[in-house]
Amino acid sequence: MTDLLTLLRDNIRSLVPYSSARDEYSGEQATLLDANENPYNNPLNRYPDPRQVKLKERISEIKNLPVGNIFLGNGSDEAIDLLIRAFCEPGRDNVIAIKPTYGMYKVCADVNGVEYREASLDGSFQVDMKKLLSLADENSKLVFLCSPNNPTSNSLDHNIISDIIRSFRGIVVLDEAYIDFSILPSFAAKLDQYPNLVILQTLSKAWGMAGIRLGMAFAGKDITGVLNRIKYPYNISLPNQQIALERLSYANEKDSWVKNILDQRGKMALELSRLPLVKNILPSDANFLMVRFENPKSVLDFLTGKRIIVRDRSKVHLCSGYLRITIGTAEENNSLLKALQEYPNVPDDKNGNSLRDEKSPVY
Ligand SMILES: *Cc1c(COP(=O)(O)O)cnc(C)c1O
Repeated sequence: MTDLLTLLRDNIRSLVPYSSARDEYSGEQATLLDANENPYNNPLNRYPDPRQVKLKERISEIKNLPVGNIFLGNGSDEAIDLLIRAFCEPGRDNVIAIKPTYGMYKVCADVNGVEYREASLDGSFQVDMKKLLSLADENSKLVFLCSPNNPTSNSLDHNIISDIIRSFRGIVVLDEAYIDFSILPSFAAKLDQYPNLVILQTLSKAWGMAGIRLGMAFAGKDITGVLNRIKYPYNISLPNQQIALERLSYANEKDSWVKNILDQRGKMALELSRLPLVKNILPSDANFLMVRFENPKSVLDFLTGKRIIVRDRSKVHLCSGYLRITIGTAEENNSLLKALQEYPNVPDDKNGNSLRDEKSPVY
């Protein structure tokens, strides 16, 4: 796939990566006098494995993918940033994404001085492929898709995703952060078919490890090879590698969490839809619900006053009036329902701002 490598920035293609002496030695039980570490075992005195071999082997089993097709980052955010840095020449190249979607694609593009082009989803929150590809020119290196999409909570049509991967001459990054909650399968099984596909997954959601920051990118060996060459050598700390490795043995626990969350999602959608103040709920294939209120700012303030924090998406493109509500435990969800049942209906002012702000400090 030399074709793909021609998409790289020149400096990245010719990069000689940092190499540690430990890179060339993979045996155990050696006398380690190569890295200027402290020799006294405390037991965090040694640098972590820069290639995360054990952790990747476990992920390889779980995901049924060869180790060589796996990149591990400090959250998915690291993979997003590295992909932009590897492929996009600042001030010249551009990336294309759907709108609305996860905010980090734009932040990373902006930080890197890379133009960010947006293709609005249609009325059913699906991608209009023609519109999206019409934004592409010879400097378009990456397309970002997210399925199930944040914040719209739906999965994108798999036929359209496949068509885009086949038609776009650059790299398609498909963010599957919510795939464990979806009724649709991952594209990971199709990696062989699509050399220009990069799939992002994370341990932050279903696996319950947002705290350790562990993101995964699955792609052909050319692309994972590039990401591994340009990452910080020790990007995943020793405790984080150990914790991830250990917790990945509890797939059953993860599965039962997912089951509970999906169960609760159904119950919440039903209960919320019975409340007069709820105007709409989007069909969700993820672990959150998009709920439309007539007065979202007032509802948000009211909930905040009760120390229930939900995400305001009411000013987001195509999401006018919506709050994004994560599915919590049954107890947490019930406290949200109870609060909303107690909500005294006060309208937002004509600018869409909360009337509660000044008037009702009790909230
Ligand atoms: C939550 C989320 C992630 C996870 O990011 P991490 O850096 O791995 O925690 C990635 N993509 C989307 C769309 C998300 O909503």
